[in-house]
Amino acid sequence: MDIGPGSLSRLNHIGFSVDQIDYLFLSHLHPDHTLDLITLLQVFNSAPETVRQKKFTIIGCRGCNEFLLHIYDLYPDVFPSGYSLEIREVYRDEFLLGDLRVQSGPTAHTESSVAFRLEEGGHSLVYSGDASQQGELTRLASGADLLVSECSFPAGWQTEDHLNADEVGLIAQASNVKSLVVTHLYPPALRVDLLSQIHQHYQGKAQIAVDGLRLSLE
Ligand SMILES: [Zn+2]
Ligand SMILES: [Zn+2]
Repeated sequence: MDIGPGSLSRLNHIGFSVDQIDYLFLSHLHPDHTLDLITLLQVFNSAPETVRQKKFTIIGCRGCNEFLLHIYDLYPDVFPSGYSLEIREVYRDEFLLGDLRVQSGPTAHTESSVAFRLEEGGHSLVYSGDASQQGELTRLASGADLLVSECSFPAGWQTEDHLNADEVGLIAQASNVKSLVVTHLYPPALRVDLLSQIHQHYQGKAQIAVDGLRLSLE
């Protein structure tokens, strides 16, 4: 989900190969969530031993098709050469990918930004992307096993297009998620005890994401 700068090198570092990736979920198109898409497409076309032949699917916010056309304008060499790339734009949607149930809903960070909920075998994961309080994250996350949420700012910070620790705690509590992982921390959020601020509102398990973190829903 999302593919900001450094994603591919971090995946490689923990032993994932790009040919294990068949689906990419894009919450919105800001560079901190998309820059390594260009690298990924380049790798699919030309990296030794990983030249792609099987289909690749992007499930993303409205505007993904146009965004890809801009990428091809800038970097013609990354246009898919040996494989097909399918793009499915979503907003407030629900559908199945095999046994995986996918739901999306607006987060009001940008006009088209979405959060995703994935469910399979009775387990559920929700990823906020970037979000604001005006979005539908609480509804989407209702009862989920795990909410991975942005928490850009500390408690009390005024923000129109991101979440602060108060808002994340309130959303996690209102949606009654079993556990919470926060990510996308801007420097002011790194200078405080963010988890204590979140726990002012949310009684469940919470942690701050780090590179290479592996989580189990079992
Ligand atoms: Zn953003
Ligand atoms: Zn962001």
